[in-house]
Amino acid sequence: MKISRRRKVHRYLNFFCNNYGFRQPYQVLIDGTFCYAALKNKFNIREQTPKYMDGDVKLLTTQCVIQESANLGHSIYGATVIVKQFATHRCGHTMPVPGSICLESMLGVNNPNRYIIATQDKELQTVVRRIPGTPLLYLHQRAPTLEQPSAASLRMARINSNEKFGVSKTDKDTLTNLKQKKFGVTEPEEQKKRKKKKGGPNPLSCKKKKSATKKETVPTNKKKRKRLKVSKHMREHWASLVKEELASKRNSVASKKN
Ligand SMILES: [Zn+2]
Repeated sequence: MKISRRRKVHRYLNFFCNNYGFRQPYQVLIDGTFCYAALKNKFNIREQTPKYMDGDVKLLTTQCVIQESANLGHSIYGATVIVKQFATHRCGHTMPVPGSICLESMLGVNNPNRYIIATQDKELQTVVRRIPGTPLLYLHQRAPTLEQPSAASLRMARINSNEKFGVSKTDKDTLTNLKQKKFGVTEPEEQKKRKKKKGGPNPLSCKKKKSATKKETVPTNKKKRKRLKVSKHMREHWASLVKEELASKRNSVASKKN
């Protein structure tokens, strides 16, 4: 195998390991069409698949797939013999269904059992590409080919990584709700107020105005005080009156004592 092909397989398998939790032994779920193509192209699945994957591999199938191959009769007898060699995983179908439908049901919505699907069936291949986290293996003549991660797999991996390392919209909403409930903080309003301040008048100019008004008020008070000031001769007059009163009071006290 060429180095570039080996690197590609490594890269693709690493993608599924890192983003979808794939681990060795890789579970390869095989259908009758893959076995038929392998027999035709003299590709030994049991020997060559682990070499291609460069790791431990579990070769699997289902009872429905075996039943379908057997039903097709003598024309694909060799393929039926090959597919019967693999371990079977329970599919839960009491009445056998076509292999493609059975494998689709094994994948579910997001391939929770981490199967790699090995098929030559074009329709099943398109289904597999739509299910995120599902690697696709097929034979290109004699050469096994692990297809690059599908658009659905890439998209879901990106969403999952954003949820892991970033703050999602729902998280943001719950955070703001909690802040509002517990601390009465309303972030968006505060931001709006700040923005208004930016657009408003210069705060320094406002301060100057305030100081100017103070200055204006102070002199008016002073003027009033000036008006209350008594002239010198009036002060002397009042002083003499007070002195006279005091002297009369003293005299009256002295006369009472006598
Ligand atoms: Zn089944």
